[in-house]
Amino acid sequence: MTTLKAVRGTRDLLPPETALWNRIEATARDVFARYNFGEIRTPIFEDTALFARGVGEETDIVSKEMYTWEDRARAQSEKTQSLTLRPENTAGVVRAYIEHGLGESGQLQKLFYIGPQFRRERPQKGRYRQFSQIGAEVLGPPSSGSESPLRDAEILEMLATLLDELGIAGWTLELNSVGSSADRERYNQALREALVPVVDQMCADCQRRAVTNPLRVLDCKIPADQPIIEKLPVIADSLDEPSRAHFAAVTAALDAAGVPYTLNHRLVRGLDYYTRTTFEFTHGGLGAQNALLGGGRYDGLSEAIGGPKAPGIGFAIGEDRLVLTLQAALNQNSAPLKADAFIAPLGENLNPAALVLARELRYKGLWIELGEGGFRLKKSFEAAEKTARRIVILGEDELQSGILTVKTFSTGIQTKVPRAELAVFLADSSPE
Ligand code: AMP
Repeated sequence: MTTLKAVRGTRDLLPPETALWNRIEATARDVFARYNFGEIRTPIFEDTALFARGVGEETDIVSKEMYTWEDRARAQSEKTQSLTLRPENTAGVVRAYIEHGLGESGQLQKLFYIGPQFRRERPQKGRYRQFSQIGAEVLGPPSSGSESPLRDAEILEMLATLLDELGIAGWTLELNSVGSSADRERYNQALREALVPVVDQMCADCQRRAVTNPLRVLDCKIPADQPIIEKLPVIADSLDEPSRAHFAAVTAALDAAGVPYTLNHRLVRGLDYYTRTTFEFTHGGLGAQNALLGGGRYDGLSEAIGGPKAPGIGFAIGEDRLVLTLQAALNQNSAPLKADAFIAPLGENLNPAALVLARELRYKGLWIELGEGGFRLKKSFEAAEKTARRIVILGEDELQSGILTVKTFSTGIQTKVPRAELAVFLADSSPE
């Protein structure tokens, strides 16, 4: 029989790596709470129409990468329904915002999520078919201030804080404005005209996009097309006065807060729903897939999926890529984490006493690995050295006298410690 394996583009996450995932998520939750965000959890699959309308039919995600199936009808009278594993979470959040009338309070909604997303992309380092995003959205009726450039600046400043608190240095914030939908229409027209004399020298995808959605030409990665794209008009020249003023207010607030950024006129992002501010944080250590996170403003999204006017802005961080970046940093300067102590009972009859001692120490907050009395002492030492900083030996004598033998591996020193002082002794992680 062939052995079954995880499906291409999916992965098992194992300890100790999962500890890093948990640390990242705990830091994100902590930062989001300080900025007054609450958590939302939406379903992993949704009606296919949500993504077709909310992400855009013309995008690579919807046209090529979704996991979609016709869900079986349970009765003759029932129709089948087209369902899709979510390729991103913004559309689901906005659907939930509409469905639960979250805008009706008139309050700005600040929501974050952490969870798996699915795209049928070609797998490579940093790109998977199941991957995890940590994202947040700020949206609400216009009266809640949801259109304010301060919201954009606050989100970007929060991201800079999160990356700093995670210990990720060397990121770059790339920023652009794609304007209002009228600006984009004007820009699309300018692009269409500029593409006419050059499009037959470009790749097949660009030739198609030049007709259907010229803005997407700017996403092209084909090297031969780049000199042509460099000479195309830039979107900044198509922005109307309100869009220019909005963008200027975002950059002024970032300057005031000391958040560094670079302007990138080609940053139009892969999703159709963006308006005005778009951004990406990149990191040099990631190689070809260098985008750590992306996001932008989506003032028309709620209406595109049948809801009330609810301007908003959000982002999605690629958690897998955060982990890769942090692993690279950690490998350079830290030893693997180990338990505070390994308890080695000398004989199976001491197993219950060892469980009691482990319970006592764990209750006091220590990280304890419990050995097995059936092991020979040599085997206990070998197991202990792999998983813990110290070994505590529990024999009949130790149990009776209440004085335990502790060996610290880093120094090789063996010490006798009274049981009442053991927790304090083990908690001290400085080398003796
Ligand atoms: P997007 O939803 O396309 O704006 O992507 C936001 C972020 O999610 C990107 O900057 C990546 O860090 C991450 N991401 C997107 N697609 C994948 C993928 N297939 N595998 C891993 N991370 C991804």
